[in-house]
Formats: sequence, C-alpha cells, structure tokens
Amino acid sequence: MTELTDLEFDLAHIWHPYTSMTQPLPTFKVKQASGAMIELEDGRQLIDGMSSWWCAIHGYNHPELNQAVQDQLQKMSHIMFGGLTHDPAIELGKLLLKITPPSLDKIFYADSGSVAVEVALKMAVQFWTAQGQSQKTNFVTPRSGYHGDTWNAMSVCDPVTGMHQIFGSSLPNRFFVAAPQIGFDDEWNQADIAELEQVLKLHHSTIAALILEPIVQGAGGMRFYHPEYLRQAKLLCEQYDVLLIFDEIATGFGRTGKLFAWEWAGVEPDIMCIGKGLTGGYMTLSATLTSKHVAETISRGEAGVFMHGPTFMANPLACAVALKSTEVLLAQDWQANIQRIEKQLQHHLQALSALDYVKDVRVLGAIGVVELNFNVDMKTLQQQFVQRGIWIRPFGKLVYVMPPYVISEQQLNTLLEQLVSVVEQMQEVSA
Ligand SMILES: *Cc1c(COP(=O)(O)O)cnc(C)c1O
Repeated sequence: MTELTDLEFDLAHIWHPYTSMTQPLPTFKVKQASGAMIELEDGRQLIDGMSSWWCAIHGYNHPELNQAVQDQLQKMSHIMFGGLTHDPAIELGKLLLKITPPSLDKIFYADSGSVAVEVALKMAVQFWTAQGQSQKTNFVTPRSGYHGDTWNAMSVCDPVTGMHQIFGSSLPNRFFVAAPQIGFDDEWNQADIAELEQVLKLHHSTIAALILEPIVQGAGGMRFYHPEYLRQAKLLCEQYDVLLIFDEIATGFGRTGKLFAWEWAGVEPDIMCIGKGLTGGYMTLSATLTSKHVAETISRGEAGVFMHGPTFMANPLACAVALKSTEVLLAQDWQANIQRIEKQLQHHLQALSALDYVKDVRVLGAIGVVELNFNVDMKTLQQQFVQRGIWIRPFGKLVYVMPPYVISEQQLNTLLEQLVSVVEQMQEVSA
C-alpha cells in the first residue's frame, strides 16, 4: 500500500464545508498566514479577499492578538463558567455593552454563530412561555436569510437555497416572507413590508419572534436592503407582540461601515447575535445579547432560569482575544479605513456591471459583490484565482470579497484587478 500524500489523506478522510466525500473539491494547503497574505505550502502567496468568512478583520498573525492569547494562556486556557467567572468574560462584557444597542443589557456567551442563534430563539420562546403564552413558539423570517447550520438555525434559513429540501419534515415549519427587495440606496416603498405585516396580522398569536440579518443578507445571497425595512419591522413587532432578533454575526464589527448594522436604521432589537469578527477570527466565540426586560421576564417564568449552558461557555482564551480584537478595532480610525476599502471596491468592480452576464455589482462598506446570471464553476474559478495570487471563494452566482481591514491599498488594488480580469474572461456557462 502506498503512503497517501497529505493532500490525498485530506481528500480521502477529512470533510470540508458542504462537500462530497466521493467527489471532493480540491483543497490548497496553507503553511501560514500573516496580515492580508496567505502562504500556501508550495510557497505561493495569496492576497486574502475573504477574511476567512467575515472573521479575520485584522488579518492573520496579528502581534497584539497573539500576545493577548499568550498572556491568557499563562493564566488559564479554560475554566468552567458554572459557578466561576473571570476577567476576560467581565472585561469583554463591559466593552460589548458600550458598543451594542443601549437597550441591550444581558450577555450570553456561546460557542459559535449557530449556537448564538439557537440561544436567541430559545430566549424568545422562554420569554413568552414565562408569561403564560406557551403557544408563541414559532418564528417568522425573510427569505434569502442565513442563520447557521444547527437544527433551528437551519429552519430559519432560506427554504429554497437553504437545507429544507434535504431535511424535509425533520425541520420545524417557519413562516417565510418575501426577502426585502428595495436596495440600500433606492427609494423606499411600503410594499416591501406588506407580506410581513400580513403574516404577523394572521399568525402573531403563534409567533415568538421575527429573526433577520439587518441590512445585509449574507450567505443567503449577499443582498443589501433598505434601512426603512428595519424601522417598519420594529413597528410591526411592537404592534403584534413579537420579539425582534437581529443576527449581526456577519455584519458586526464595522463590516458594513457602521460598527453594527442596526445603526443604519437606528432600530434596536430585543435580542442580538454576534460572532464571526468578535475574536478577530482567532477562535470560535459568539454572544447573544438581550434587554433587561426580556431577561427578567424569562427569569420570572416557571423555569426561573434560562435553559442553556455550553461546556465551553465564555472560554477565557476566546474572550481575551475578543476583548483585544475589539480594542484594536476601536483604537483606530476604522470608519475612514472602511470608507477607503469601499471606494476602492466601487472603483474597480463598477467596470464589471457593463458585462452582459453580470446581473449586478454592489458595494457596502468592506463588502463587494458581483452577481452573475449563472452559477459559477467554483472549482475552475478558484484555481484561476489562486494562479493569479488571490484568495476568493465564490458560491452560486456570486463572486464576492470582504477583505481584512488591514489590507493595504496596493494589495486591494491587485486583488481587485485580478478578480476583474478573471470575471472579464469568463465564458458564459449555464448552470
Ligand atoms: C456565519 C453565520 C452564522 C453561523 O455562524 P457559525 O459560527 O458558522 O455557526 C449565523 N448567522 C449569520 C448571519 C452568519 O453569517
């Protein structure tokens, strides 16, 4: 039997996100990463356009973040959170309460974005149960959303592009309303919220909460929508006694040009999920924040407690690096930096909108999206990007970038020039 190479072992035995084990997509082996650069095993250098899926906002191997992990490692890497607490959790909590919506007052630390969403949904159900409204257990959400891969998170993802067909009746049935259609800068039209109003009117007695991604629908289609949608949604939630959950796991920590996307509308949710950029991409950590009112109502209920408590809750290493990452972000003129990235994205990507197979080009903050008329061949496109020294992972009809904020002007120019050149040379292939 011949020894497998490392890449052969990986292909044969290790699952990657959303891949087949009989026809796995090729992977590239990374040796190290630093700043906005990823170095492959064979020495090739790639400029990072993905921030490891929204996370690595300060790039890789950041000296201050490394130091924060090392300092905490000397004290303790983990300790149970039941009955014990520690500085990293407390200091991070103090900072988070300063930068999140003022009405949010209680923090639940969880392990990942999906778990933060599960926690939010459970909070909403417990909130109503505690008031004797045990029939309010369902959720309403706009289509084209993405909220994670665990069971209930999955149930509120887009029912078509999400995983509903595969999991069928094992998923609870949610209420879906049309995705917001009015673009971020377009003129508001009340029709955009009509279906939500209708569903709430008819079904509010069984609905615990509306969950949505404010302003930017991420993995469900990279769509940007009008802030007025959030203001109207908030009014409807108040009118029909339904909690409002914002999933800011992708949009948080400056990505859209505001620290959190709710600020575009000035609308505060009852519950908010954060994750991804929280630790600067160092490790998995998320948080679900809620108001005093929601937390106290849950605590007055028959259970008397909120029923969740993961083993790695408030992991000290993760909290320490999250604290440092957030401090590093706030210590710089991050708004000006995001604006710089936004201008560069607009400048380079605009050219692509002239191509007949490009449906739309859109930019918001440090997010640039090129939507094509057909599904891309991810494998081929990925190879071409790597050959040109850039790391971009397209999906569906979308070629998009969300670079780490530390990317230099020159690195971003190169990244975008190569992206534009690859898209310009694409032959139309039907899906
Ligand atoms: C990525 C994401 C999640 C899930 O986070 P995981 O850490 O992958 O579990 C949930 N909601 C949104 C909006 C996301 O972008």
